[in-house]
Amino acid sequence: MSNRTLTMIKPDAMKKGHAGAILDKIIKAGFRIVAIKQLKLTTEKAGEFYDVHRARPFFGELVEFMSSGVIIAAILEKENAVPDFRKLIGATDPAKAEEGTIRKLFASSLGENAIHGSDSDENAKIEGDFFFSALEKF
Ligand code: GDP
Repeated sequence: MSNRTLTMIKPDAMKKGHAGAILDKIIKAGFRIVAIKQLKLTTEKAGEFYDVHRARPFFGELVEFMSSGVIIAAILEKENAVPDFRKLIGATDPAKAEEGTIRKLFASSLGENAIHGSDSDENAKIEGDFFFSALEKF
């Protein structure tokens, strides 16, 4: 599974109309779309996805934000998918993200930072299974 990662285009980027430009950058960076869907998370499902952050002071804000609008979730495939995708999206805080990264280009704040990328192969598998059944992966 080390060649797959899970991304979400977050509600801020969706509302600003950046989904097309972000997907274009992802595809031009050499990632293949294995699965993709548009959906809106409930607060409960957003909390489940970010369960590791439940004790953090920003958990409530994070769950509110992630359930505030439509998102796009996708499984992406490429050699070294997890580290290469983290590089493409840039640092969590867009103010610290490198020039040309998706967060630098499209995110406005640490909380509302446009895009998610799995942080390990193990989490990529868990997160991919959170959104997609075997019938939806190609
Ligand atoms: P990531 O792996 O780069 O997404 O970063 P983390 O796993 O550390 O955090 C998960 C998500 O929580 C981030 O992408 C942000 O959307 C959000 N987040 C992280 N830190 C903060 C914070 O201090 N305040 C708020 N409101 N959200 C945060």
